[in-house]
Amino acid sequence: MDKTIIIIGAGMAGLAAGCYARMNGFRTIIYEMGNRTGGLCTSWKMGNYTVNGSLHWLVGSGEGIGLHQIWQELGALEGKEIINHDIFYQYETHDGRRVSLYTDVNKLEDYLLEIAPYDHEVIRELTAAIRTMIKYDLPTDKPEELMGIVDGIKMFFTKFPLMRNILKWGNISIKEFANRFSEPLIKETLLNYWHPEMSMLAVVFTLAWMHKRTAGYPVGGSSAFIENIEKQYLALGGKIHYNSKVKTVLTIEDWVYGIELENGEKHVGDYVISAADGYSTIYKMLDKHLIPTDLKEKYNKLKLFPPVVMVSLGIDYDFYHIAHSANGLNFPLEYPFKVDDKHEVRRLTCQIYNYDKTLAPTGKTLVTTLIDSDFDYWKGLYADKELYNAAKDTIVSAVIHNLEHRFPMIRRKVEAYNVATPITYHNYTGNHRGSYEGWLPTPASFRLQVPKVLPKLHGFYMIGQWVEIGGGLPSAALSGKNVVQLICDAEKQTFQSYPAKMLYKLAKLADE
Ligand SMILES: Cc1cc2nc3c(=O)[nH]c(=O)nc-3n(C[C@H](O)[C@H](O)[C@H](O)COP(=O)(O)OP(=O)(O)OC[C@H]3O[C@@H](n4cnc5c(N)ncnc54)[C@H](O)[C@@H]3O)c2cc1C
Repeated sequence: MDKTIIIIGAGMAGLAAGCYARMNGFRTIIYEMGNRTGGLCTSWKMGNYTVNGSLHWLVGSGEGIGLHQIWQELGALEGKEIINHDIFYQYETHDGRRVSLYTDVNKLEDYLLEIAPYDHEVIRELTAAIRTMIKYDLPTDKPEELMGIVDGIKMFFTKFPLMRNILKWGNISIKEFANRFSEPLIKETLLNYWHPEMSMLAVVFTLAWMHKRTAGYPVGGSSAFIENIEKQYLALGGKIHYNSKVKTVLTIEDWVYGIELENGEKHVGDYVISAADGYSTIYKMLDKHLIPTDLKEKYNKLKLFPPVVMVSLGIDYDFYHIAHSANGLNFPLEYPFKVDDKHEVRRLTCQIYNYDKTLAPTGKTLVTTLIDSDFDYWKGLYADKELYNAAKDTIVSAVIHNLEHRFPMIRRKVEAYNVATPITYHNYTGNHRGSYEGWLPTPASFRLQVPKVLPKLHGFYMIGQWVEIGGGLPSAALSGKNVVQLICDAEKQTFQSYPAKMLYKLAKLADE
């Protein structure tokens, strides 16, 4: 009889694990607490607009790196148009100057040298690293847990420059690197890109992938992308139960044997994979004696991606003059405002989706902005819905007021708006303190590993953004694949995977 794998959560990681488990002959049932797939990778309707809730760029969207194979196996890019931006990110100053970080490394180098010839050493150090990352690919064919000494030696000899660069750039924060520039404009541009305490490795890798045209934007956004993977999972014969929140992982001695839902139903399986929020898995679903002290320490020590308030606007304007970029346009605010009791907002980064016509009616545009905020502030407000909604409205007004200054006459063209707070992310996906990518990759954390298995519990695995520092869709999907490789290894079975296209071809042949 086929063995059964129970998967908790139908986000990116859960769906990926489900697809690979089906390719390897396991029965799979996903229990999802919500009423749809996708988790954080989702979109929603806002009048005639569609809000893209996650996907800005997808590593592996083009050929040339191992991650692309995963998207092909999951059928994620079937029928998708991919937009590869020429600009990664744009930064504007109060006096109207603008810096564009180009995705072509040669253009980026020339451009930065033109702005700051006196910073040539540090500019060339950055572009040399990007060029190394372009040349070498990260290993994605098997999980580290299954790598032996031979794999280690092989990697050392074939990928030494890559490993040396990973160590070097992983240990430098964006802030430390930015401070090495004497040109304030470049310094500011880097400091405002994302979280300055993040490791520079994230920037170097992203720019290398963008140069290779393999970190593009799949037109249609988050839900359209996830729907392809859901379709593939169902075509492979996988099952999903919605509105099924898992309360407990059932164990007997040191073996897992199933799960219990909040409604009291119990379901039995040979393996259980949690693709849900890591904190709930560790502290709520499992008996505390199963959790090793070092894992608890990691949960206490590691920094989270701070939660965000996301403001989305539907605007009756085409923004034809704004060059599109992967990370958006960052500009200073004429009217700074407070997003909570701790954070004053002095700049906004706006994603102007003038390049994805599927998200807005003809001639109109979806504009979104993510603003770092505080979970406890919003949790406090949520107890009083009136206050909570009033706070959301105040933020929308402040964003529109500032947009009006940057894009005169825009105010009266805003025809729809929506605000998601850290509480929205928490309620919708269960993610700890509303964190939208799990653990922040910093010089202190980038080399750490969060284990996918527990030493005292057989048959139980964890996947998704909480076991991959830095989070994101590719690592969530890869962790799903890796865990099925570990299960196949435990079953002494050869792991197999194949592109989704093959399945579609077989289905077509069967129909004929
Ligand atoms: C605004 C934003 C922008 C982003 N931009 C990008 C980007 O450009 N590129 C990129 O690669 N990534 C991006 N990400 C990150 C990416 O979306 C996430 O890292 C990824 O989707 C995480 O997938 P996951 O499966 O690990 O977790 P989740 O998406 O959190 O999925 C977990 C699932 O488990 C379910 N669940 C939780 N608890 C239970 C329970 N007790 N019982 C049953 N089900 C449960 C949840 O409902 C959810 O469906 C972005 C995210 C956000 C929010």
